[in-house]
Amino acid sequence: MKRFEKYDVIVCGGGPAGTSAAIRAAQNGAKVLLIERQGSLGGTWTVGLMTWLMDVQNKHGILDEIAEKLRKKGSRCQTDKKDFSFLPEDMKNVLEEMAADAGVSLLYHTTITGIIKTGNNTVSGVIAESYSKHFEFRAPVIIDATGNGAASVYAGCKYEIGREQTGEIQPMSMMALISGIALEKARPFCLNYENFPGEAQKNFHRYLEQHKISLSYSMPGLVHLKDNLYSIFYNHESVKSCDDPFEITEATLHARRELKNMLAKISNLEKAWENVFIVSTGEHIGIREGRRIHGHYYLTKEDIMEGRQFEDGICNVTFNVDIHDSGAHNKAWNHGGITVKPYQIPLRSLIAADVNGLILAGRLISGDFYAHASYRVAGNILGIGEAAGVLAALSVSMGKLPGEVPSRKVQELLNL
Ligand SMILES: Cc1cc2nc3c(=O)[nH]c(=O)nc-3n(C[C@H](O)[C@H](O)[C@H](O)COP(=O)(O)OP(=O)(O)OC[C@H]3O[C@@H](n4cnc5c(N)ncnc54)[C@H](O)[C@@H]3O)c2cc1C
Repeated sequence: MKRFEKYDVIVCGGGPAGTSAAIRAAQNGAKVLLIERQGSLGGTWTVGLMTWLMDVQNKHGILDEIAEKLRKKGSRCQTDKKDFSFLPEDMKNVLEEMAADAGVSLLYHTTITGIIKTGNNTVSGVIAESYSKHFEFRAPVIIDATGNGAASVYAGCKYEIGREQTGEIQPMSMMALISGIALEKARPFCLNYENFPGEAQKNFHRYLEQHKISLSYSMPGLVHLKDNLYSIFYNHESVKSCDDPFEITEATLHARRELKNMLAKISNLEKAWENVFIVSTGEHIGIREGRRIHGHYYLTKEDIMEGRQFEDGICNVTFNVDIHDSGAHNKAWNHGGITVKPYQIPLRSLIAADVNGLILAGRLISGDFYAHASYRVAGNILGIGEAAGVLAALSVSMGKLPGEVPSRKVQELLNL
């Protein structure tokens, strides 16, 4: 891998948003460095074992490219994207191959710990740490795709967390891979788009309740990945904060215990389950909701209820508000009394308001609690990432700040 100290674009975080941003920025001519603190790309999808993608059917672009490559490797994502699941290892491979093909420089096991700025409040580089080594990399454009907004915080951006009045955030959930159950037995509990959300989860919940097995999540489900390998949704961990490592550690330990206890009970129920075992739990518990960084546009509940379209729209969202219950009623999820009309995410929601040269990508973009609860799922995260990457490349090639790049140019390169 070639090493430089200066790049055109530095992407912080290699989750789905950061990876798609890095690929698109590099494909559009930028010299890109992607920095990820873990040892793979894909974030929640790979390290977090979240293998079931939603709001994908109306998406094309990078999503179609990923889907085709996954299918070739044998993952079960259908061509009509009605059922988009994948083996985490396939996803890791696909994202690494795509990043390499695009010419992205990749740096794993390295954590962003600071942002360098010039005197006029413009980003000019990142500080990163790895194996007791300190690095400084320079670039005129930085993309924050860290999920929780670490880079934006270091840059001095204002942000919000959780509900407006209480700050309450959606629960975290551990995802896991399990095996040892025949498909005929598991099928009624396997999610599919035809009856999602609903039957599979109700069936599983009823089955467990009948046998006096109670989980912290009342809509559990399996995703069939291959042969008799499944990923499992089974728990909710109510946490007060999205950035307290002590609390996140406690949630992680608790979630792993819950799965172990559940499988110990279920394996005694009937022959079909007797060989069930845990293949792996997520390296990182899934964080649904972190910081939402202030951008040039703040997407609101009203926007998503009205189905607002924007002149600078870059991603079409059809997914409803999906608020997983927390606190005392930490069991299922609700729509927050909202019905979403298909709406767009404006490019301005991806441009940091408080610092020049910083672009936002992924679940941390600028919006309120309800808007986030809708656009936070996979298909939209990729769309946001692609737009962030194209914007970054244009910003560099045109010598303009992200906020000065004409949105039409971004849309053209995204074929919108
Ligand atoms: C439990 C759970 C279940 C979900 N279920 C579904 C579902 O069924 N369908 C669906 O479509 N979506 C689902 N989602 C939503 C979806 O997976 C996420 O919204 C999506 O992964 C967000 O992508 P992201 O790239 O913004 O963030 P992340 O996936 O969180 O990626 C952020 C990346 O940044 C890295 N990072 C963080 N800080 C630093 C730093 N300082 N330095 C370097 N790297 C850093 C992290 O290691 C990570 O790789 C679920 C999410 C969770 C948590």
